[in-house]
Amino acid sequence: MSKILFKNGEVVNTARNTVDKADVLVENGLIIDVAPSIESRDFEIVDCRGLLLVPGLVDMHAHLREPGEEYKEDIRTGTTAAIHGGFVAVLSMPNTNPPSDTRSVVEYIVRRSKEEEKADVLPCGAITKGRKGEELAELGDMMEGGAVAFSDDGNWVQSSGVMRRALEYTKFFGGIIISHPEDKTLTYRGLANESPLTIKLGLRGMPVEAETIAIFRDIELVRLTRGRLHLAHVSAKESINLIKRAKEAGLNVTAEVTPHHLVFDEEVLISYDPNYKVNPPLRTREDREAILSALKEGIIDVVATDHAPHADFEKMDEFNAAPFGMIWLDFAFSVLYNELVRSGKMDLPALAKVMSTKPAELLGLKGLGAISKGYRASFFAYNPNVEIIVNREFLKSRAFNTPLYGKTLKGRVEWALKDGRIYRF
Ligand SMILES: [Zn+2]
Repeated sequence: MSKILFKNGEVVNTARNTVDKADVLVENGLIIDVAPSIESRDFEIVDCRGLLLVPGLVDMHAHLREPGEEYKEDIRTGTTAAIHGGFVAVLSMPNTNPPSDTRSVVEYIVRRSKEEEKADVLPCGAITKGRKGEELAELGDMMEGGAVAFSDDGNWVQSSGVMRRALEYTKFFGGIIISHPEDKTLTYRGLANESPLTIKLGLRGMPVEAETIAIFRDIELVRLTRGRLHLAHVSAKESINLIKRAKEAGLNVTAEVTPHHLVFDEEVLISYDPNYKVNPPLRTREDREAILSALKEGIIDVVATDHAPHADFEKMDEFNAAPFGMIWLDFAFSVLYNELVRSGKMDLPALAKVMSTKPAELLGLKGLGAISKGYRASFFAYNPNVEIIVNREFLKSRAFNTPLYGKTLKGRVEWALKDGRIYRF
């Protein structure tokens, strides 16, 4: 393969926290040089003037629905949406049908990912058989088949004894356990955050305590086992204090937040738009602000999308009946760039760090998370000044369950590069 020179881009450097005008030289899928000016010889040249070059994003939490629910999304549409949004690797959650609780399903996902050749799909195996919380699945076997983490996402592992064994067992092969912290005996049939506002709106509540009780229990088990725990979609202010204390105690605990918990709060539910129905629910403005502060301080480590596609006949139902979740892969970066960077709440290298460098590091993905010599040539060009409309034509995802549908957003991923291959949109 010939050398490609990406000339005059603004390169985001998350290690130095800078954005520098630089040239990037790529060969055989790797970055072989980054310098203020690289003299071009017989290289193919890609002009990057006016474009931000951002390390390829890594999503630690996405639902790609294959196998079993391809009418919502599949590995083809999901990985196309991902690369379209600047994501080069996506952790696919195991609540498929059949669930990803055996090596054969894990291997199927890896094979399908390779066939599609877009964003890499990293399978997340289930912790327990059938995600039922009763019996540990074959974790070591799934790891050998290509699983990079384990979760019963959608369900919390209610049994402390089972969770203890999962944390102990995965220590032997460096596995990471991702908890969906929700005590379902407290959220049963809930629709929204439990608060004065949602009581007024007549929406059955899901109290913050459903999350904090689960997080407290999970952290205590890490204290006991010295295992490795990652907490999915943290939504409440009170959860932050628990995570902060666990980190201060030296426990191996990390956490993620979704874009929706960063940019929306429960006040949007006045519209009764089912597209705002998510689990965990949108909380109060105070929670949203506390979560952003925690992300900036590093108490919350990463942004993970919880991309949750549904068919319109499901999601267009009334608020009570509609399933939880919204899609994000196609446009998460544009939304967060506008809401956090353009508004001055966070700088661009910090955003790239929590969407790329940190998740790559937590999942142990070597060669991702930076535009540096020796790294995989996996980055994307972002034009902050072009508008996009979130509509059927724009979205590569099969689904369009997002409250942003039809809205105009500023900023577009012009192209994405993965292992030296360029994807233009
Ligand atoms: Zn979850």
